[in-house]
Amino acid sequence: MAKDFLKNAKDEYDVVVIGSGLAGLTSANVLARQGYSVLLLEHHYQLGGMATWFKRRGGHIFDISLHGFPIGMIKSCRKYWSQDIADSIVQLKGIRFENPQFSVRTTFDRKDFTRLLTTDFGVPEERVTAFFDKARSMNFYDDQKTTTRELFEEFFPGRDDVVRLLMEPITYANGSTLEDPAITYGIVFSNFMHKGVYTFRGGTDALVNKMKAELVGNGVDIRIRTLVEKIEVGPDQKVQAVVVNGRRIKCRAVMSNANIKSTILRMTGEEHFSKDYVDETKAVRLNSSSCQVYMALKPGEGFDESVGDLLFHSEHKGFDIEAILSMNVSSRTFSFYYPETRPGSDRWLIVSSTNANYRDWADLSEEDYQAAKKDLEETTLDCLEQYVPDIRAKLDHIEAATPRTFEHYTRHIAGSSFGTKFEGLKVSQNLPEQVGGLFHAGSVGIIMSGWLGAVNYGVIVSNNVDKYLIGNGA
Ligand SMILES: Cc1cc2nc3c(=O)[nH]c(=O)nc-3n(C[C@H](O)[C@H](O)[C@H](O)COP(=O)(O)OP(=O)(O)OC[C@H]3O[C@@H](n4cnc5c(N)ncnc54)[C@H](O)[C@@H]3O)c2cc1C
Repeated sequence: MAKDFLKNAKDEYDVVVIGSGLAGLTSANVLARQGYSVLLLEHHYQLGGMATWFKRRGGHIFDISLHGFPIGMIKSCRKYWSQDIADSIVQLKGIRFENPQFSVRTTFDRKDFTRLLTTDFGVPEERVTAFFDKARSMNFYDDQKTTTRELFEEFFPGRDDVVRLLMEPITYANGSTLEDPAITYGIVFSNFMHKGVYTFRGGTDALVNKMKAELVGNGVDIRIRTLVEKIEVGPDQKVQAVVVNGRRIKCRAVMSNANIKSTILRMTGEEHFSKDYVDETKAVRLNSSSCQVYMALKPGEGFDESVGDLLFHSEHKGFDIEAILSMNVSSRTFSFYYPETRPGSDRWLIVSSTNANYRDWADLSEEDYQAAKKDLEETTLDCLEQYVPDIRAKLDHIEAATPRTFEHYTRHIAGSSFGTKFEGLKVSQNLPEQVGGLFHAGSVGIIMSGWLGAVNYGVIVSNNVDKYLIGNGA
């Protein structure tokens, strides 16, 4: 008989959280701390969503999305998780750019970028200061019409090289383009520029296991391998239950961490929303997806620390979003993981990431798909040889992930690695106005994606869930 992953689960909870991405985990924790009974449902066998890891023969552990996040994670983790989690967050200082326009090393913060822009790129200091001040002052309520392209034109007209330095890492990080609203760029860029790029010492597995222990300690009922099929709406236009693994579980509120479009259009159903809202939801554009190549060196083998921590490599002559997304890869971000990533380990690993279009991969036959993955691995090694010359001799394991992989594990439509474009945020925020007690927190609108964005959005939305439950007889 199939295992019952809902064995002993209650028939009713205050809140059901669908999905254990960083926003879902954080919401569940905040709500449980407030005294609500919380059921956390995750379809995968592991918690974390995109913030995940996998193990391979020989003791290798690969992180999927642990490349870097802003310092704000320390405060958010301290407040909404624990001091212990916050204490494991450390800075990555070796950020490198290698492309036909420039070769630079930086700590990726405002002070060092000011140095680079004034000395290496010859931009007057007042201009650099004015640009940083403008980006820093941007917030969600500002003008949303100005595009990132227009912002750069205002401060650095005709400076393709400066635009590349400022934009390329953000495009790699969250798939945003020059046509996205300038505020999405300004907010994300300023978060990083505040104090640089940070990582979690111990790896994603340590982080998520610490989070799991917190959740259990706060009384959250966690169930893996549980796929929510339906969110039920009552005749009073309020959520009343979810259907998961064929079982109906009643609840007073649902916090969905699943993709916003699938939450509305698939799990709840169009019939429960106004026509305008459904049209708006359908019009939300997904963000792009990713490919990754995971490489583990033989135990004891390493690479020269001069390679840095995070290397933005591109062979393309200028900043070009189409080239960044192309299957004919010319731009890669390499993350170099030293043994200190997991103290006590003797493993050196490299993960290469590239942005990707879902359709390029989704439409391939199985045979062509396997061949394309093999080709991606080989071309990545060819490229990496210039930084780690003997990589092929040192290699113990290599494999690739594609948009199909991300779709499979996280159920994001089209394997979108950073949720939706900006318009998805409004749809997510307005969800409870359509159906009482139905909330969404998770990667939307560019600014609410990434590790920090997801955690913070989870907090914001759980406060709204709390207000709703108090207002509805909690
Ligand atoms: C390759 C890659 C590299 C990245 N690198 C970085 C980085 O370096 N720094 C950074 O800050 N961010 C990075 N990100 C982005 C970051 O990981 C994500 O934005 C963030 O983790 C998303 O969190 P989330 O809360 O939106 O949920 P998600 O991670 O999207 O998780 C949603 C969860 O919901 C579950 N789910 C969906 N539907 C159902 C259902 N019906 N029933 C039950 N469960 C369901 C899924 O299985 C999943 O676990 C990267 C992403 C990718 C793909």
